[in-house]
Amino acid sequence: MEVLRVSGEPEVAEVAVLRFRGDDQYCVETVDGLAPPEPRARKWVVNVSTQFGCPVGCPFCDAAQSYAGNPTAEELLAQVRWALARHPEHVGSCGKLKVHFARMGEPSFNDAVLEAIARLPEEISTPGLWACVATVAPRGRNAWFERLREVKESSFRGRFQLQFSVQSTSAADRVRLTPIAHWSLAEIAAYGARFHRTGDRKVVLNFALARAVEFEPAVVASTFDSAHFAVKITPVNPTARGAEAGFETVLRSERAEAVAAARDALLARGFDVVLSVGESGEDRIGSNCGQAVRVARPVRALPPEHHARLAPSAPAGNR
Ligand code: SF4
Repeated sequence: MEVLRVSGEPEVAEVAVLRFRGDDQYCVETVDGLAPPEPRARKWVVNVSTQFGCPVGCPFCDAAQSYAGNPTAEELLAQVRWALARHPEHVGSCGKLKVHFARMGEPSFNDAVLEAIARLPEEISTPGLWACVATVAPRGRNAWFERLREVKESSFRGRFQLQFSVQSTSAADRVRLTPIAHWSLAEIAAYGARFHRTGDRKVVLNFALARAVEFEPAVVASTFDSAHFAVKITPVNPTARGAEAGFETVLRSERAEAVAAARDALLARGFDVVLSVGESGEDRIGSNCGQAVRVARPVRALPPEHHARLAPSAPAGNR
């Protein structure tokens, strides 16, 4: 693995462009991030790319611009090791060290993600270890999701976060925003109710709300059981493809009040709701979901002697 570039702000997040197999088409972006204002000793978030690019093609996501297949389990774990090696003093003692399989790629399209999750406890010896998967719930990957449930049960009971990137309560809008065959809301509801057991974190339904995209609290409440699901509402992050396609976020806009009303409607129906406005620093850095630092700032390969110097302490720049 070669570290082509590290950029960002150490007190928020830093993004590495990592190249595998000596070939530019096998580059990933990996994030070494924090949850400000929490210090790293309390919470540390490592975001791993699960594919070389992404074949899903969501119209607001810069990861969708290329796709060259799947990293192996070793290549997934190498991303985690890169981040851990930057702050070894926190590895064993961090209150919550969350490894998030969510940067570039759809995790369920890569069987090696399951192996990497199962191997994480051997790699990271800390009681604060958590695993997290964010998925668009592709159709035809039921066996992968069953195996994910088994891995959670055997190795991450009570320390696993599963997030479905649902985006809208309208089937038509979901087709537009997630342009592959995917589970219906009812199928997500049925799976999540089996996945979530006492002591587990609730399954999260994520809606990155854009203008002209339907979000009906009544549909959420009639489809999902608030005993098993929580709702997270996030902005549409600024991306090159999103801007080209005319996506405008609702959160952080003058329509944010309408979102607050929707939140209150869900709270009244018993759902846990998170309005995640996000860090403007992360937008700047490019560490937010859907962003790709290589799109914002094309990468030029660094000579090998620079890699060791760059990896431990990164210059300011980009997530
Ligand atoms: S949002 Fe996720 S699934 Fe969609 S193109 Fe981007 S990385 Fe792929």
